[in-house]
Amino acid sequence: MAYISGMNDRPFTYVIELLHSAGLRPTRQRMALARLLFDEGNRHVTAEELHREAKKARIPVSLATIYNTLHQFTAAGLLREVIVEPGRAYFDTNLASHHHFFFEDSGEIEDIPDNQVTISHLPDIPEGTELNRVDVVVRVATSTSNT
Ligand SMILES: [Zn+2]
Repeated sequence: MAYISGMNDRPFTYVIELLHSAGLRPTRQRMALARLLFDEGNRHVTAEELHREAKKARIPVSLATIYNTLHQFTAAGLLREVIVEPGRAYFDTNLASHHHFFFEDSGEIEDIPDNQVTISHLPDIPEGTELNRVDVVVRVATSTSNT
């Protein structure tokens, strides 16, 4: 019957398909970065973190290229950008509707499932626009109260 190729035989197959499906040419660099991003399930990563991981994995790539690639992936619908404060953007591989905790002490973010946030009222959206999504960032810091 049909030959089914396992992921291990051709580890790049899925990233090639992913990039093709997003309309991006699967260059060596994009494939390498896509594997860093998508190999291990859902995650949030900053450009600087991905740059460090690329260095560790001996992928020769500049921080500027990392930024460009992350923005290309975002524009192509492979990532979501989560901006928690000016100068701090996370790229999220989880494209499903959800929200985030932002830990102000560490700068980390963590998913909040969509069903744990209820928005009871939204303003009328400006004329000529349509609602894409509503992102909620819940900011938390280490409690300072002595209990
Ligand atoms: Zn997320």
